[in-house]
Amino acid sequence: MKYAIGVDIGGTKTAIAAVDERGVIVSQSVIPTNLQIRPQAMIAEIQQEISRVIEESGVLIEEIAGIGIGAPGPLDSKNGLISCPPNLPAWVDIPVRELIGRSFSVPVLLENDANAAALAEKWIGAAVENENFIYITVSTGIGAGIIAEGKLLKGLKGNAGDIGHMVIDPSFGECVCGQWGCLESIASGTAIAKRASAIIGREVTAKDVFRFYKERDPDITGYMEDVFNVLGVASVSMINTFDPEKIVFGGGVSKFGEPMFDSIRQYVRRYALNPTGRKTEITAAKLGQNAGVIGAAALCFQNG
Ligand SMILES: [Zn+2]
Repeated sequence: MKYAIGVDIGGTKTAIAAVDERGVIVSQSVIPTNLQIRPQAMIAEIQQEISRVIEESGVLIEEIAGIGIGAPGPLDSKNGLISCPPNLPAWVDIPVRELIGRSFSVPVLLENDANAAALAEKWIGAAVENENFIYITVSTGIGAGIIAEGKLLKGLKGNAGDIGHMVIDPSFGECVCGQWGCLESIASGTAIAKRASAIIGREVTAKDVFRFYKERDPDITGYMEDVFNVLGVASVSMINTFDPEKIVFGGGVSKFGEPMFDSIRQYVRRYALNPTGRKTEITAAKLGQNAGVIGAAALCFQNG
């Protein structure tokens, strides 16, 4: 049996897991991502934790195919650099692959976190049967991993699929990136909490919005219908561009569940350009919060 170490570096926490070649986690750990210390010091903590996870798993270093790292973009996956992610503010051109590789005599790979999650869904999740699908995570931000003809579409530096900054409607106002009306500034968990707070007249979180929606608050259900439609618009753009068999939604916002999927399906049925595109399956991710580490490990079991 071969194993891989998956490392999922996020803005608040870093998950590390030893994963076997069937995708089963044999040991794991989660540590806070400390943004108050230098990135090099945080990477040293991650190295220690990787060693601990390996020790706890009982796996020998000879049995480890590699260490896969998933991290927020923008990054440079080919050169192993974390470039300048908004949620890891001090991590500018950090050679994370080289730094982690110094402590372990195995290959180290780096990929965008949404891309890694797409690989996890392909490996053991909601898209095992699919050669052409798109994984979209709707969470604090929005990102996508595109699997085309069975392979992850990476682009020049590994940043393909950054659909959060696809413009949907400039009238929604300015996005953090400087453009107007990006998908992420309308339909991410952060955007939902902000807009719902304005509707309700006090500060609420995305979790509160979820509860109001369940209680059928008329203002919130109406507003969320608009958000689901926007996710439908994004889905149609992706379907028209990539011709996938399926779109898999993950991230916290996908917990709105069937009402959200139904709205997106209806929009797609109506507006996707080609007749097969209108039948694109719209479904929930299967792996939940472990998608990141499992996908990072999947990097090491991929050919090419
Ligand atoms: Zn933007």
